[in-house]
Amino acid sequence: MDDAPNSEHFTLTPIGHVVSDYPDKFGIPRQPGLAPAANARLVLTAPYNDLLAVRGLEDFSHLWLSFIFHQSPERWSPLVRPPRLGGNKKVGVFASRSTHRPNRLGLSLVRLVGIDSQHGVALQLQGCDLVSGTPVVDIKPYLPWAESHPNAQAGFAPEAPSLMEVAFHPSALDTLALRQDSATLLALIEQVLSQDPRPAYQQKDKVSERLYGVRLRDVDVKFRQRQKGEATTLEVMAIEPCAE
Ligand code: SAH
Repeated sequence: MDDAPNSEHFTLTPIGHVVSDYPDKFGIPRQPGLAPAANARLVLTAPYNDLLAVRGLEDFSHLWLSFIFHQSPERWSPLVRPPRLGGNKKVGVFASRSTHRPNRLGLSLVRLVGIDSQHGVALQLQGCDLVSGTPVVDIKPYLPWAESHPNAQAGFAPEAPSLMEVAFHPSALDTLALRQDSATLLALIEQVLSQDPRPAYQQKDKVSERLYGVRLRDVDVKFRQRQKGEATTLEVMAIEPCAE
């Protein structure tokens, strides 16, 4: 490997880490904005946690975050199977938003709701699609006049995925009602399950009795598929405290 100063190898140092409603990768919507009830904080690390570095940022409603898919393997291959294509058709890694990619760099457009400067600097975010602990390497303000192209052609993902119907078992609602954050947690569960987080290749199963678990905030949401005639619903059966 070439170690010369003008080497083509670059080192990235995280400027901060995300603390989010998503303790696990499983269940996170596949793009930002799909679950607006998802809250997150981007806690900046010294020396980047300097208020001067975010001066003026509060006047922007949306930000681009560049981050590292730190929970993805370093290995990658030129072809990937996007969940959007049912997990059985391949496209080029650079034609996808796959998390298994060279350099493991991710890019998410998120809503900025506030800047907290009480202890260092933390950005309050909404709708982010990042697992808690994700290292962030850069922040840039979003410029709608330059970066919004509603009529752009979007290949195999031309529009937002269709939503799944979500239902709650009465006992799950009882558990929710006891919590201070019941309204926002209910919204989060609905938004996450409506994206159908189950692995793409399993969705073709007719009626599966399987109980799935998705961890959100400090709870494990147990849900299963329920068939009503042609319509499939994901029903929340229980909301349990996370194991650890
Ligand atoms: N908007 C980003 C991410 C798209 S992929 C981009 O286009 O680059 C979204 C998926 O990334 C989520 O479903 C989640 O499972 C996964 N993910 C989120 N944070 C991750 C991390 N730190 N490491 C690996 N995978 C992560």
